Amino acid sequence: MTDAETLADRVREGELRLHELEEHADHETAVAARRLLIEEETRTSLETVGDYSFAAAVATGTNIENMIGAAQVPMGVAGPVPIDGGAADGEYYLPLATTEGALLASVNRGLSVIRSAGGATARVTKNGMTRAPVFRVDGVAEAAETVAWVEENLESLREAAESTTNHGELLGVEPYVVGDSVYLRFAYDTKDAMGMNMVTIATREVCAVVEAETPASLVAISGNLCSDKKPAAINAVEGRGRSVTADVVIPGELVEERLHTTADAIVEANTRKNLIGSAKAGSLGFNAHAANVVGAAFLATGQDEAQVVEGANAITTMDTREREDGTVDLYASVSLASLEVGTVGGGTKLPTQSEALEVMGLRGGGDPAGANADALAEVIAVGALAGELSLLAALASRHLASAHEELGR
Ligand code: NAP
Repeated sequence: MTDAETLADRVREGELRLHELEEHADHETAVAARRLLIEEETRTSLETVGDYSFAAAVATGTNIENMIGAAQVPMGVAGPVPIDGGAADGEYYLPLATTEGALLASVNRGLSVIRSAGGATARVTKNGMTRAPVFRVDGVAEAAETVAWVEENLESLREAAESTTNHGELLGVEPYVVGDSVYLRFAYDTKDAMGMNMVTIATREVCAVVEAETPASLVAISGNLCSDKKPAAINAVEGRGRSVTADVVIPGELVEERLHTTADAIVEANTRKNLIGSAKAGSLGFNAHAANVVGAAFLATGQDEAQVVEGANAITTMDTREREDGTVDLYASVSLASLEVGTVGGGTKLPTQSEALEVMGLRGGGDPAGANADALAEVIAVGALAGELSLLAALASRHLASAHEELGR
């Protein structure tokens, strides 16, 4: 077996390239040799980066190339919170990985108030992971011919797509024509997988049928109407992955005792900040900081962190509800339009991420398939709701700056 120093020597001598080391040694040795070379060339110490606790073989090849170690992000936990969901049912802790001081404290405070209010309700209202290939035609007549064929032959396209996967189901297609370009936005039920690889493979098969049966020629398997990892209104309107809403009614007494403000003050802060302020800014997100919870939950549970772009596409609503005795309660909701999450595949199988999913009882495939990813989406939505409540309450009671001073500096 080659040791790390010998392997590093072979790179120094030009015999091997940095990305080829796993072919010539076990994974741990390859990672150590690469680290030695980088330490030497950049005159740094990677002692902490190299001190990781999982087998490199779990990650190399499927999750990372040119591995030198692991970036370790602190993980905390917020909750527990009772959730009445379409799939989530019971009490949940939410693992969050972040470097932002005060975030866990803020989400935990929100969850604690939700818990005192009896828990949150959450539902996945739409589910469909999309891939939108772009085809070239010679003009609008061919574009219309292509679209007509696709709409009339969805069944054969479904057969082609589903021949590539045991779990994925083609739900439908939304065609878009721009001059001599045709975009076919296919949506799939990817069950417990986030599904990007799954739907890309399935769509490749679909495209071959479209090319064989219509005048259209494939230009790119993704034509950006999908729309993956870019801020895009189409995801906010049509959804992508899971569209999920969480809501809660907080009794007026609790708002005053625990959040040190009133329902009216929180509603005003939400309207002027999240709704009017966001509208004036031309924002796609109408929320305070949903990205904080989505991002931290994605890092903790092995989601694709770049999809925080669309995951944070959320609208927060706050309203007053008056009881018969005149007490004013607070209705609060967060609707995340395009939360792309999975409990199988991608980074979810890595050991620490897998343990975080286990904390929620949501590791691996659900029963029925899709139930675990639905539940994960619902738990994250409740976490986002807690974050919104806590931050808006802090703003309404004007003690945001002091919390950051105490916890984040
Ligand atoms: P994946 O790890 O490529 O595949 C997951 C596979 O798990 C599925 O294809 C499915 O196999 C199997 N599976 C087992 N039990 C399942 C269950 N209960 N529900 C659903 N599937 C189950 O994961 P992916 O979610 O398709 O893709 C995620 C990865 O794609 C991430 O690493 C992400 O970073 C990356 N990504 C790719 C692209 C791209 O364009 N290719 C874009 C963005 C991100 P069967 O299909 O055989 O049923």
